[in-house]
Formats: sequence, structure tokens, C-alpha cells
Amino acid sequence: MWQALAFARAGYRVTLHERDDGDLTTGTSHWAGGMLAPYCEAEASEPLITRLGLRSLALWREALPETPFKGSLVVAHSRDRNDYERFARMTSGHQRLDAQALAKLEPSLDSRFRDGLFFADEGHVEPRRVLPQLHDKLVRAGGDIRFRSSVTPDECARESGSIVIDCRGLFARDALPQLRGVKGEMVIVETSEVSLSRPVRLIHPRWPLYIIPRDDNQFMIGATTVEREDSGVSVRSALELLSAAYAVHPAFAEARIVEIGSGLRPAFPDNLPRISIDKQRLSVNGLYRHGFLLAPALAELTLGYVARGEIDNEVMQCA
Ligand SMILES: Cc1cc2nc3c(=O)[nH]c(=O)nc-3n(C[C@H](O)[C@H](O)[C@H](O)COP(=O)(O)OP(=O)(O)OC[C@H]3O[C@@H](n4cnc5c(N)ncnc54)[C@H](O)[C@@H]3O)c2cc1C
Repeated sequence: MWQALAFARAGYRVTLHERDDGDLTTGTSHWAGGMLAPYCEAEASEPLITRLGLRSLALWREALPETPFKGSLVVAHSRDRNDYERFARMTSGHQRLDAQALAKLEPSLDSRFRDGLFFADEGHVEPRRVLPQLHDKLVRAGGDIRFRSSVTPDECARESGSIVIDCRGLFARDALPQLRGVKGEMVIVETSEVSLSRPVRLIHPRWPLYIIPRDDNQFMIGATTVEREDSGVSVRSALELLSAAYAVHPAFAEARIVEIGSGLRPAFPDNLPRISIDKQRLSVNGLYRHGFLLAPALAELTLGYVARGEIDNEVMQCA
């Protein structure tokens, strides 16, 4: 979407082929949390993710000014204190809040934690709502979207004779055999007993777990990172996700489970994104845990290459 939008807004004639219908339920994006969190992600990611992520924040703000930028909050229970301090050391862009300031920011968390890290500049989108908004923007910018149109890059090149940008995620393995799927499991619950204004991350010894508020009293609890390519959610993962929510606020015990599922994140062996270029063919893939965070900046880079021949050595690989 972001690739199509960037080119359409720059005046290119764009056709976006999407094999799914407008609900986009089969891609990885359907399962995503939609956090735009380059500072928090620095704890476990390469500096490249922070660089592209920071640029993306500006591009999200510019393209969708209504994107919520209410920051994100990191909390920990006392047994995970060392990991919490490590998280604070590995990241920047945060301020330390005491219990009072934390309760002022998120009244539902009053008396739950003795302190927290507040990353004020981070944002989040609701993937299932923001993609239709981007579709509208693309159409208004003159782009043509063809849903239920499953194509290969070869077919596109034959049909149009022009530049093809392959963004098929994990489905591009025919062209990118190094791609693998990394499973992420999530749960959506509904309760009117808890109210959060921003994503809350709970320091956890195994996974960066978080709770993201969504409309209609719903909360997305995510996400595991499992080196498996099957679908579904294991009992162990469900227990850990739900326990994390319960640990943040006991009222989650009475919440209604709305949905439970998993998606496969497309990743290269180094877990970094890559733009591969072969003459008129480009492929953008390997967005791993950061598709929503990185998509705008990657789109800007491909546009810079096509329009002005600009090369970003950290991300681009030319044949
Ligand atoms: C549980 C979970 C939580 C996550 N949380 C976050 C988060 O908080 N923040 C974040 O930034 N990222 C997050 N991610 C990662 C993010 O979802 C992925 O990085 C992103 O979806 C990858 O985007 P993509 O466009 O490459 O692939 P996809 O999202 O899979 O999109 C590929 C699209 O190509 C279409 N397609 C495939 N083949 C064809 C074909 N032949 N013809 C036409 N169309 C085709 C598919 O239908 C699909 O719509 C999360 C992922 C998971 C699983």
C-alpha cells in the first residue's frame, strides 16, 4: 500500500494488484499490532530499524495526520527489574515516570506499578482500519487498486511493460528463497473495565509482550515470536499472552476473548528489510516485526531510486 501510495502521490500511474479482497484477511498485516515504536524496538533491533522507523513516523504523520501519537509505556513487575533497567539502557527517547505520573497518564494503571518508561513520540495504527484509509488515499491520488487479482511479477511486467514492485510478503518465496516465516500469536479481548490510551509493554523474560487499545473496548494482546511456520496458537502462548494482560490489570480476567490467531512475519536470515533491484524489477520484503513501522520509509527509498537513481547501501541490493 505504501509503495503504491508513494508512487501515485509522486505522479506515477500506479496499479496495485492484491490477491485478497478489501478486508485483507490472509496477509500478515491482518494480525499485526500496528505499533509505530522505533525507540522501543531499538532494544532488540539493529540501528537500521531505528533510522527507517524514525523517518516513517514523520511520513505517517504527514500522510495520515489523524494517526494517534500518544506515545507508548513500558512497565515491569519487580521480579523483572533487571530486564526493565536493561530495556531503559538499550533505548532512548523515553522519560522515567514515577507511580504518580504513571497513574496520571494511564489512570487504569493506578497503584499497579511503581514506575514506567514513557516513549512520548511513538504512535500506533489499527491495521484493519488504517489499510482501507490508505486505499482511499491511493484512489484519490489516482491509483488503481485491483482486489482479487493474484499476479506474478512476470505477468505484471508482460502486461504493463513498466516498473514492477513485488511486495508479496511471504508469498514471494519463489523469487526470494531465503525468506522464512516467523510466527506471531495474538489475542483480542473486550472489556469495559480497563481503559488505556496507548500501547503498554510489559517486560517479559521471553517476549516483548504488549497490550494495544483498540476501538469498542477491545485490546490486542501480542505477540509471541516463534520460529515455526504453522498456523494457530499453542496453549502455552495463549496462557502467556493472557497472563501478561492479567498481570497488567486483573480486570482482564473478566474480559471476553474476541479473537485468537497468528500470522507469519516475512523475514530474511538477518531479520532486516531488503529492497532488491534488478533493472525494472524491485522487490521490497523481509519487514519481519516492523512492516507498519518501516513501510513508509521503504516506499520513499524505492521512489528515490526510481525517480533519481538514489541508492541506500544499507537496504538496497542491486543485481
Ligand atoms: C502478531 C503480529 C504482530 C505484529 N505487530 C506489528 C507491529 O506492532 N508493528 C509493525 O510495524 N509490524 C508488526 N507486525 C509485522 C507486520 O505485520 C509485517 O511486517 C507486515 O505485515 C509485512 O508486510 P508485507 O506487506 O511485506 O506482507 P503482508 O502483510 O503479508 O502483505 C502481503 C500482501 O501481498 C498480497 N499478495 C501475496 N501474493 C500475491 C499475489 N501473487 N498477487 C497479489 N497480491 C499478493 C497478500 O494478499 C498480502 O495482502 C506484526 C506481525 C504479527 C504476525
